[in-house]
Amino acid sequence: MIQNTCAAQVVRSRVLLSAFAILMACNAARLADSPPAQIPVPNPAPLPVDKHGDVTRTTTAKGTDRLREWRGGVMGTSLQLEVLGTDVAELDRVLGLVLDELRRVEDVFTVWRESELTRLNDRAGQGPIPVSRELALVLATSIECGRVTRGAFDVSYFPLRSLWNYQAEHPTLPTQAEIDAALAFVDWSRIEVDLEKNTVAMPAGFSIDLGGIAKGYGIDRAMSVMLEQGVKNGLVQAGGDTKALGRKFGESWQIAIKNPRHPGELFAVLPVVNQCVQTSGDYERFVEIDGQRYHHIIDPRTGRPSQGCMSATVIGPEATFADGIATAMCVLGPQAGMEIIEQLDRVEAVLVGMDGEVHLSSGLKKAAIPSKVR
Ligand code: ADP
Ligand code: MG
Repeated sequence: MIQNTCAAQVVRSRVLLSAFAILMACNAARLADSPPAQIPVPNPAPLPVDKHGDVTRTTTAKGTDRLREWRGGVMGTSLQLEVLGTDVAELDRVLGLVLDELRRVEDVFTVWRESELTRLNDRAGQGPIPVSRELALVLATSIECGRVTRGAFDVSYFPLRSLWNYQAEHPTLPTQAEIDAALAFVDWSRIEVDLEKNTVAMPAGFSIDLGGIAKGYGIDRAMSVMLEQGVKNGLVQAGGDTKALGRKFGESWQIAIKNPRHPGELFAVLPVVNQCVQTSGDYERFVEIDGQRYHHIIDPRTGRPSQGCMSATVIGPEATFADGIATAMCVLGPQAGMEIIEQLDRVEAVLVGMDGEVHLSSGLKKAAIPSKVR
């Protein structure tokens, strides 16, 4: 159910970012407006199947403006890229660079095949290990997320991951002894990132998984590529994580939040300009055993799937940080989570507690969002 009936107040967040004018346009009135006319125009002659061949492309036009949209997959999730300009071939060139960048980032941060990250994990306990500047920076942001959320976000949670195997044909539950054994190797504060030397050190037995933050970083990088190429209006969306630049045919981008108990439905739509919207939830990957839901976000305090929020949407200027914080909100729950959000500069949140109650941060209080998810 898309909620687009709301009082006609205009609510704008206090958000401003020097790099580009951040406007968190919770413009309730705009939601009720009809969308701009978008006329489908024929795609240009089909390209031969190239390295981006698994991408579906569409073009929409308004006047001389063209919106080029690519849909495909990246980082184990659905990818949507949208970019506006006047020359479709030029837009395709930029989108190709964006896709290349997303795939490059995936190659650095994946733990599903050999990567710079798996090579680092293999050397845990061997003192400071030289890493790329990029990996050092993302790890530093991860540690910062751990500090801000008092350990709810913990990239060293990896030893717990194999205990909760949602992919198994007949998933089983780990014993408390197995959880305790893994927890001995989980503590974000013992990962040392040296940003001067670009090294990372962690105790023997530790291992890092950046699944809770790498997608946000990929989105930040993808948007940087768009900006470098002179794009003024565009969108990068990977699963529930989005970064929106400028506007879509002069209107705010409309970013939907899924109903966490009916993910085919939406429960809110945020009008967004120059902003990131990162949603984490217990509904993306889970298995039910004896009526209990076991999902992919782990509470590092208990070693068990988190019980804080069904869904957490974090809005902020930087996708990497917002992604980590959104994952942590699922652990912390609405009360403890919102206390942290309120202390963060330029960050807002929509948190759905386990009872379906919707909690909005102070900058969103008048936004067009229902108070309960059913
Ligand atoms: P999604 O990948 O569905 O967008 P998230 O951004 O919330 O969702 O990330 C979930 C992923 O984060 C998990 O699949 C796992 O790789 C990792 N993760 C799980 N629990 C934690 C945690 N407490 N701290 C850091 N990362 C976590
Ligand atoms: Mg996350």
